Amino acid sequence: SVKTDGKHSYCFFHQSFHDALQERHRKEAELRQALEHDQLVMYYQPRVDVATGATSSMEALVRWAHPTRGIVEPNDFIPLAEETGLIVRLGELVIDKVCAQLAFWSRQGDPLVPVSVNVSPRQFTQTDIARMLGDCLQRHQVDPALLEVELTESSMSGDGDEVARTLSAIQRMGVKLLVDDFGTGYSSLSQLQRLDFDVLKVDRAFTAQLEKTREGTVLFSAIITMAHGLGMRVVAEGVETLEQMRALKALRCDEIQGFLVSRPLPAADLPSRLRQGLVPSML
Ligand code: C2E
Ligand code: MG
Ligand code: MG
Ligand code: MG
Repeated sequence: SVKTDGKHSYCFFHQSFHDALQERHRKEAELRQALEHDQLVMYYQPRVDVATGATSSMEALVRWAHPTRGIVEPNDFIPLAEETGLIVRLGELVIDKVCAQLAFWSRQGDPLVPVSVNVSPRQFTQTDIARMLGDCLQRHQVDPALLEVELTESSMSGDGDEVARTLSAIQRMGVKLLVDDFGTGYSSLSQLQRLDFDVLKVDRAFTAQLEKTREGTVLFSAIITMAHGLGMRVVAEGVETLEQMRALKALRCDEIQGFLVSRPLPAADLPSRLRQGLVPSML
């Protein structure tokens, strides 16, 4: 009967909703455990100067060393961490790990370049991030010039004065500020002009358009001119081919990051990679 069907579909809906909710709770609990049991590991991806081939910096990228699933990529757990607020704790752990790693490399006498960390919008707006960074650097006795902070445009959307105060507190310590994934968010250009970022990282969607369309080159060129005019260095993200690298060099892009140079690597692989340097023939 109609009545039974109605009841059945209600139950079905209710059941799947219930399952989805349970699955989410399970994942959240598992992620919480991962944070408590130190299952996060940092990988590092070099950023190189296109003019000299020197490694200017490395980006710290988090992975979850899952007890059964192996290495889990951030796109699989960062969104959930953002939604649940676990990102605040995760972000603190990341900064602590990076500072500990920098201190370790420094003690070993390994080649040292600055490391950039990704700070989520929630961590930026809801915690005293400047103080957290300062405490962490001090605890590990790390030179603030070795740390850089990557922020996406969404971190800049809040109260303008508050954002500017936080950014300048970070910068006053000697920590550099980078705009991450530029061109994908909604930050206004006036906001960008008002805030004093050191480096603009252009999203890899723009890099991918370089060889495809003439407009791709026009757009990238305009971004570079604007960034230079505002006193920022420009990094192209997601550089995968020699052609892209050459095109970027011709456009006076300052630095590149991407699989062409290196995939993100475990910390232990970095010192030897840095000692080798980049293959000069690539440039
Ligand atoms: P992102 O900050 O824009 O990091 C760059 C991402 O692009 C990395 O992905 C990197 O592996 C990838 N990538 C680098 N070169 C290439 C390339 O040539 N081609 C392609 N297709 N991809 C390339 P990953 O490590 O999976 O991280 C994804 C995102 O997760 C990051 O994007 C960042 O938004 C977030 N994330 C990673 N680590 C952290 C962290 O410690 N904290 C926070 N809050 N977010 C993080
Ligand atoms: Mg980043
Ligand atoms: Mg990025
Ligand atoms: Mg500046």
